[in-house]
Amino acid sequence: MALKTIAPRLRTIDTRTCKPPPKRADAELLTPEHRAWAQEVKRRAGYRCEWVENGVRCDRASPAHRLFADHIDERRDGGAALDPKNGRCLCGSHHGLKTASERAKRMTS
Ligand SMILES: [Zn+2]
Repeated sequence: MALKTIAPRLRTIDTRTCKPPPKRADAELLTPEHRAWAQEVKRRAGYRCEWVENGVRCDRASPAHRLFADHIDERRDGGAALDPKNGRCLCGSHHGLKTASERAKRMTS
């Protein structure tokens, strides 16, 4: 017997007072130059997250964890897009933390 899915009765509402702009696929992130930059950043990090907290480096590494090449100075804040010195390798949760804190800074300044 097939189980029926019951539709949710409550709609979720977005109560945020300050909403981030909608996400757009960023053409600059899809270029071969950017892919090479990201690869170099991750290779240099030994395919390990480079986040350091209280002197201890995060131990998440590829392939168990997805890694992101992060722009230390974000491109929208004028950071160099293709300079490996402006890059570091982060795991998903640390990349999320960093991106959210940069966004918060941007909204309060
Ligand atoms: Zn991490």
